[in-house]
Amino acid sequence: SQDRVFNFAAGPATLPENVLKKAESELYNWRGSGMSVMEMSHRGKEFVSIIEKAESDLRSLLNISSDYHVLFLQGGATTQFAAIPLNLCKIDDSVDFIVTGSWGDKAFKEAQKYCKPNVIWSGKSEKYTKVPSFDSFEQNPNAKFLHICANETIQGVEFKNYPTPSNKDGILIADMSSNFCSKPVDVSKFGLIYAGAQKNVGPSGVTIVIIRKDLIGNAQDITPVMLDYKIHADNKSLYNTPPCYGIYMCGLVFEDLLNQGGLEQVEKNNIKKAELLYNAIDSSNGFYRCPVEKSVRSLMNVPFTLEKSELEADFIKEAAKEKMVQLKGHRSVGGMRASIYNAMPYAGVEKLVALMKDFQVNHR
Ligand code: PMP
Repeated sequence: SQDRVFNFAAGPATLPENVLKKAESELYNWRGSGMSVMEMSHRGKEFVSIIEKAESDLRSLLNISSDYHVLFLQGGATTQFAAIPLNLCKIDDSVDFIVTGSWGDKAFKEAQKYCKPNVIWSGKSEKYTKVPSFDSFEQNPNAKFLHICANETIQGVEFKNYPTPSNKDGILIADMSSNFCSKPVDVSKFGLIYAGAQKNVGPSGVTIVIIRKDLIGNAQDITPVMLDYKIHADNKSLYNTPPCYGIYMCGLVFEDLLNQGGLEQVEKNNIKKAELLYNAIDSSNGFYRCPVEKSVRSLMNVPFTLEKSELEADFIKEAAKEKMVQLKGHRSVGGMRASIYNAMPYAGVEKLVALMKDFQVNHR
């Protein structure tokens, strides 16, 4: 609508307009309950119906079998960097990390406190522009799990398929914070998938964990109750007060994604948007550049630079004048980054591409 901007932020990020409107219409009095979702007891029948529907819609979207728990937790994906080794490893257990960007590196560093992680491949020396070919690294057969970050939000590097874990329990774990529900995923390939909600599926404050049921129940003794998956699974994510309003918002987004036709359709839309933007970059004769290897460019986060880097601040300013905001790259890498999550309309990318073309003509 007229008074909204195109928000290219990496997260918290733009949400679907119809979801916001629905939330607005239900804010004051949720479906005749006489109260807002923020005021409900998390143990009352109203909220229980909300969290159960959110879970069941997410299960439909991702086709999650009953072999998996779906948990709605707090603390962001960052908390999972610790919770995962605490729940799945003893302190002396080895685990393997493939590090394709800053978030995978952070997960690895946190894991060092609770197990013995090894980086079996890192893209750091090539400035995190690649995903390795799966025969170019060696997994430790004794590792408890293999960890990847499915989409590196800062560098814009995305796995298009997944390595087969060769550790003895065959466990692959993925941080899907920034591409969660952006495309179909075969959940059965993973032991655990985790994601902060605040990019594709809701507001910050909700973290979703999808975990194979046989992997819970062996947490290290020092594990805080709040990080123990078994406690949350046994209590259906209601061990303590959950982020109720955030879970409600995630539920509205899941419903919206199902109404759009599910994740096959969502992926098609995302591919169309990403192609438009990457084609504009690649056909600019070097005026704009994206450093990421073409085959692994993210559908969600598109980093790009200007050949004349001194013009970047102007570009960002001109975009803001036209109501396109949050295009500055992450402070660690500079340049620009357009995050084009599910809720970014095609028209938003079209407008950005039009500005890029104009800007190039005016600054040749
Ligand atoms: N992993 C990825 C891929 C992310 O993009 C982020 C947040 N930008 C995080 C982890 C950390 O998430 P949180 O801020 O929810 O802890």
